Amino acid sequence: MRLANKVAIVTGAASGIGREIARRFAAEGAAVAIADLDAGAADAAAVEIRRDGGRSIGVAMDVTAENEVEAGMARCVEEFGRLDVLVSNAGIQIVSPLDQFPFAKWKLLLAVHLDGAFLTTRAALRQMYKQGQGGSIIYMGSVHSKEASALKAPYVTAKHGLIGLAKVVAKEGAPHGVRANVICPGYVRTPLVDKQIPEQAKELGISEEAVVKTVMLKETVDGEFTTTEDVAAAALFFASFESNALTGQSLVVSHGWFMQ
Ligand code: NAD
Repeated sequence: MRLANKVAIVTGAASGIGREIARRFAAEGAAVAIADLDAGAADAAAVEIRRDGGRSIGVAMDVTAENEVEAGMARCVEEFGRLDVLVSNAGIQIVSPLDQFPFAKWKLLLAVHLDGAFLTTRAALRQMYKQGQGGSIIYMGSVHSKEASALKAPYVTAKHGLIGLAKVVAKEGAPHGVRANVICPGYVRTPLVDKQIPEQAKELGISEEAVVKTVMLKETVDGEFTTTEDVAAAALFFASFESNALTGQSLVVSHGWFMQ
């Protein structure tokens, strides 16, 4: 039990990568708040964890709304008494060539990824500083925190930005024992990626199979998707690492798509 007696909040945890991280953290002994825009799905994910013997609640939260983040964090602390780990994971994807990108969609994507990371970080830091026992903040970056792809201007911009935020949190959090790191997955077969395959096929004028083979997995060492379990294992590593030796870092989990 690598997270016994710890409390974690995972945003965007009603689906995909976040859901798997919540499940894994609960299996390792953490109490987990599943924060998501989709309140019904968040509750369902929490019920599933409780059925497996874990501790979990669903929390309705739009990470771009200051009042909802504050209320959701307060709900987590009220239920479980403290906060040790934040995984800022909620995210969306919108693909379009830059010259046709609607400004409203650019702003929405940056808000979910960057405003969401800021608001949840600020709320978590306030609680962690008050407790005086340190903590771990983990951002869901992407290979797109390091590399660019066509059609993904705001996503690549936001994911690069998270590395900057993590480095500042590492510096400011250090005196309080709060660490901050970024996980940078390659393509993971979740609803976020399933939605993109037909969209990219249309934009690029190629088949869906070609999008998977020649766009998504072309640069990997083995033509394989990264799995939600792979990303959850990396999150557990950061969450359970107990000292400031590992902070301000970004870890790429991508079947060798990107090598540092
Ligand atoms: P997903 O679509 O399966 O899950 C995303 C979750 O975020 C959903 O439950 C959704 O309701 C929630 N969400 C969206 N907007 C929100 C908001 N404003 N407030 C609260 N919750 C919100 O996607 P996923 O693939 O699991 O992605 C999770 C994270 O991993 C994202 O940050 C994504 O950018 C990142 N990521 C995904 C991949 C991939 O290939 N799937 C690769 C690298 C990074």
